[in-house]
Amino acid sequence: MASTDSSSAAALPALSERPSRAEAESAIRTLLRWAGDDPDREGLLDTPARVARAYEEFFAGYSKDPVEILSTTFSEVEGYDEMVVLTNIRFESHCEHHMAPIIGKAHVAYLPDRRVVGISKLARLVDIYAKRLQIQEKMTVQIADTLQQVLLPKGVAVVIEASHGCMTTRGIHKPGTSLVTSRMLGAFRDDPSTRREFMSIIGQKRSE
Ligand SMILES: [Zn+2]
Repeated sequence: MASTDSSSAAALPALSERPSRAEAESAIRTLLRWAGDDPDREGLLDTPARVARAYEEFFAGYSKDPVEILSTTFSEVEGYDEMVVLTNIRFESHCEHHMAPIIGKAHVAYLPDRRVVGISKLARLVDIYAKRLQIQEKMTVQIADTLQQVLLPKGVAVVIEASHGCMTTRGIHKPGTSLVTSRMLGAFRDDPSTRREFMSIIGQKRSE
């Protein structure tokens, strides 16, 4: 399936163009020195390797193509046309401006038109986009548009609420703030009763 999403894995630099692990660790040593510490002191000796391993986990989403994962796992189902909603998908991401953590939850829904995917794939989709450098608005659009593109449903709704490390631990230091973004497509945008049903499902789950 052709991908028009410029943010999908196909549009990213090939993994072979990445710097080596040794180069990454040496860059982390530089940052430790720049912060004012001594990378050769005992407590920091293993830090560059640990940070590199943590980065492999934080940014694992670059090596996965969400369009491909959904395209190879959907099933054609005749006659199921009720809303599918997965609420409170917890995720951890990092903002592309400060590389500070973004921690939150996503609520994802679609109204199938024959194609359905297992719910674990919805969580997987959120994770793949979360495990990249992000801005929350872009991530919300990417999740919704990928579902739309692959499942061709009657509608898609994505709501994300998250707290941003760059707001809470630096800059204006406002802990407790949470940013809410949403993208509604198809029936969720055009049909107020569909949108209401979704908002009431996630509203109930949010207040539990
Ligand atoms: Zn930031």
